[in-house]
Amino acid sequence: MNYISVIKKILDKLDEHKSLLNDLDQAIGDGDHGTNMVRGFQAVVDDEQNLKDLEPSVLFKKIALILMSKIGGSSGPLIGTFFINLGKTWTGLSQTEIAHAFHAGAMSLQQFGKAELGEKTMVDALNPAVDALSNNVNLPMKAFFEQGYLAAKIGAINTKEMVAKKGRASYLGPRSVGHVDPGAQSIAFIFEALYEVV
Ligand code: ADP
Ligand code: MG
Ligand code: MG
Repeated sequence: MNYISVIKKILDKLDEHKSLLNDLDQAIGDGDHGTNMVRGFQAVVDDEQNLKDLEPSVLFKKIALILMSKIGGSSGPLIGTFFINLGKTWTGLSQTEIAHAFHAGAMSLQQFGKAELGEKTMVDALNPAVDALSNNVNLPMKAFFEQGYLAAKIGAINTKEMVAKKGRASYLGPRSVGHVDPGAQSIAFIFEALYEVV
């Protein structure tokens, strides 16, 4: 399994939609979310020569550290925490094992950021997506990831009507309603990339 090629696919997807992600963040934050995410995943791809032969557990930890330092902002440590725990719980490439590790990653992200569902954050796309994976481990791999992608996409759309309670967007209070959360949209793009690459 070439994990770096998966990261490349995620990078391409985020890069393709970088301006949209910045625009979403401009509406309710500081306008840097797309730039942050692309910088982080680009740094992982740039380090390919040092990463390509590592075992998944070590690899995901290294990826996490790169993402944490290069994405920056509030999303860097959150996504980094996800990858650290993905690595810690990664046991193999069956649907059940993937769902288990993704779920553990998502729970650690939520614990780190202390966001509940409905508070207009990346959790509102990520948690439904990992639940969809857990509930569909019996599907073939492509259909399994499709369920994750569809749940993330709907989760991101649903953030539009939410009032932000965490992060910069929470400063706007009710004025944050009417805009999709950029972090949730990033998660939807990441799951779209995963669905496309499997
Ligand atoms: P910053 O707000 O520091 O500029 P980014 O723009 O990169 O960082 O990321 C903003 C995104 O981070 C938000 O759209 C939201 O999805 C996510 N976020 C912020 N705080 C939290 C939190 N406590 N828990 C989960 N996600 C969060
Ligand atoms: Mg921002
Ligand atoms: Mg910022």
